[in-house]
Amino acid sequence: MRKINLSNFQVATSETARDINRRILLNLIRTRQPISRADLARFSGLQRSTVSSITEQLISEQWITEGALGHAPRGRKPRFLHLNNERAGIIGVDVRPRLTTLALTDLNARILTQDSLPTPSDPQTFLKGLAERIQNMRRSQPQIYCEGIGVGLPGRVDPGTQRLVFAPNLGWQEVDIKQARTVDIKGPLEEATGIPVEVDNAANSCALFETWYGKHSEGVHDLIALTVSEGIGTGIIAGGELLRGATGLAAELGHVSLNEDGPVCRCGNRGCWEVYASNTAAVDYYTRITTAARSERNSQENGSAPTFDSLLRLCEQGDPKATEAIDRQAHYLGVGLAMLITGFAPSLIVVAGEVTRVWTRIDPIINRIIIEKCQQPSATRITPVDELAHPRLRGAIALILQKHFVAPSVA
Ligand SMILES: [Zn+2]
Repeated sequence: MRKINLSNFQVATSETARDINRRILLNLIRTRQPISRADLARFSGLQRSTVSSITEQLISEQWITEGALGHAPRGRKPRFLHLNNERAGIIGVDVRPRLTTLALTDLNARILTQDSLPTPSDPQTFLKGLAERIQNMRRSQPQIYCEGIGVGLPGRVDPGTQRLVFAPNLGWQEVDIKQARTVDIKGPLEEATGIPVEVDNAANSCALFETWYGKHSEGVHDLIALTVSEGIGTGIIAGGELLRGATGLAAELGHVSLNEDGPVCRCGNRGCWEVYASNTAAVDYYTRITTAARSERNSQENGSAPTFDSLLRLCEQGDPKATEAIDRQAHYLGVGLAMLITGFAPSLIVVAGEVTRVWTRIDPIINRIIIEKCQQPSATRITPVDELAHPRLRGAIALILQKHFVAPSVA
């Protein structure tokens, strides 16, 4: 639950009250559908007239629809309301350094159609290409009204300006935090598509999804989403609130230095957690292990670095060098997770990323380190999120869902 600042009287306008009531009703419909207007009034404590007026608006905006007739002991039979999954949808975009994936989902975050494009090396080409794919996607499902576009980024967005301020793994020259160079993703995408856009860090998005819609987080107010990919992302929910800090750069634990004499990170610092625990790190470990083995044999054969996916496959097949590389990555995932547990004492950490495919192998390694390093290791549950459920795409969807279904943030 969000904490409302009662000292700020300015926000208590009737519009705010209506917006809160609207979200309460939309969320009740989502969780209890199909539901009658009478039950909505009963569960929400709102007046029947308020319920009627808000539900009419939600129907006209295609968020909800009327379904089957219910039973009533006497009088008019009530019409049940449910989310308008046949007509309303959301587009989620998961941006990664090499590949951007997008999907159109229904209001329950079920994927209806999916597409992808190589991520260009500059934001302008990216925005143009993405807008085209979005328009194609909408044309392929003309019956769906798109309520919004959520964009999960491998970087940080300033909550005030909504601009991308930090994204070292994207390699875009246009984004440079030290030179104060930032990029607007939201504005141009809204202009090109005519649809409201929300942008945020991918790990923040995953944390939001898990908090409001995840199956592991019932009654959980302190959780962390860890995304393991080309870099390491963390999204932190503390006391039910997303931790953003004053700059939007809070929770950037992937760029906390574990070793100031370590290898240079793409952010410019040395020895960041992600230099040791990301997929890129695992591929580096493998390359070094195989190169060392080759030079021992004095072999001339030339090996190129595998993709992380093929490294995982080798590990699954029992290849000892690939397994050693993955084990080393798991060791450093454990080191960073111990830091997260000590720093934030969350009751739940969800881990998203391809590496969860070998969870049965890495889980004991991670756990051993956490038990070694943490005072109360058992207070935190660590759960992998199934990659087949597309956690990053669903996170991007959550950016739109939470805007409509969750009580508004009152500053
Ligand atoms: Zn770094």
